[in-house]
Amino acid sequence: MNPQLPSRVEMLRAVNARDRSYDGIFFLGVRSTGIFCRPGCPARTPLPENCEFFAHTRDALFSGYRPCLRCRPLDVAGAPPVDIHDLLQRVDAEPERRWRAADLRALGLHPDRVRRWFQARHGITFTAYARARRLNRALQSIREGGRVTDTAWETGYESLSGFSEALHKVAGDAPKRAGARRVIHLRRLLSPLGPLLAGAVDEGLCLLEFAERRMLERQLGTLARRLDAVLLPGAHPLLDQVERELESYFVGTGAPFTTPLLLPGTPFQLKVWEELRRIPAGTAISYGELAARIGQPSASRSVARANGDNRVAILVPCHRVIGADGSLTGYGGGLWRKQRLLELEQGRERLL
Ligand SMILES: [Zn+2]
Repeated sequence: MNPQLPSRVEMLRAVNARDRSYDGIFFLGVRSTGIFCRPGCPARTPLPENCEFFAHTRDALFSGYRPCLRCRPLDVAGAPPVDIHDLLQRVDAEPERRWRAADLRALGLHPDRVRRWFQARHGITFTAYARARRLNRALQSIREGGRVTDTAWETGYESLSGFSEALHKVAGDAPKRAGARRVIHLRRLLSPLGPLLAGAVDEGLCLLEFAERRMLERQLGTLARRLDAVLLPGAHPLLDQVERELESYFVGTGAPFTTPLLLPGTPFQLKVWEELRRIPAGTAISYGELAARIGQPSASRSVARANGDNRVAILVPCHRVIGADGSLTGYGGGLWRKQRLLELEQGRERLL
């Protein structure tokens, strides 16, 4: 249960009563439609089992929901300025578009102002918002499509938007060469730190990333190329296994992960990732120390890079490497998550 939210019973009551006094206190995601709303939205009375609740718009976005066009949950703290309102409508109309600073300038918007507005209102940048919309779109295609999706990789994967277009292109086509290549089974797993995207092949888990991670698109592309694989949605026993183990991890049982891993990488990356897995939970070391442990004490920068290239978060605990001065330095999933993971492992926090 999220401590920032009222009780589920209270929230369901508010939704049924269309109680507008809960505006901004929580947001309602409706699983059957993939849309999220303010509690008082006049458009819907969902079945309780379809309701998912969020404290922040960003949580709803990163859980795969798109904002309701009727109650406009992104405007909860007041309508946005006209130009940003227009921008939001453009994103709604073209959720797969990749926005660049030049696109914003072409609309007469100053990229810095847009970034600051999103940051202040929603705790994310506009780029992160647009990325969440693209990712949701693609994942929705993955969930609904369930067909061969290798077209994106054949055409030299460039962006998630290309990926998504390719998904649409192949929808309806009969699988062609599915038997010839490996399949990476993709599924979204929920966690107290936000949704994760998990991928497994028969030999092992090969992907576990926070869904809002920077560079997730690139990670997916690299992985598919390295494994010469197609990405398909759906179930796999290893995904069930890691889901169970993550639940127990987030409760803080300290039970070890036993899900097998498949980590394609260079010999140097493999050495670093292997060493990461020897760092006990509840401890953290510096990049320099990690470099020393693999016998290359002068390679701490390469070590840091290999650390950042890790594709299996938590199980390959790249979050247990920190700056020599004790600062958290970087984390693809966001520094706050690194902090929470370290606190959880030190027994200072239970996340469930
Ligand atoms: Zn609504």
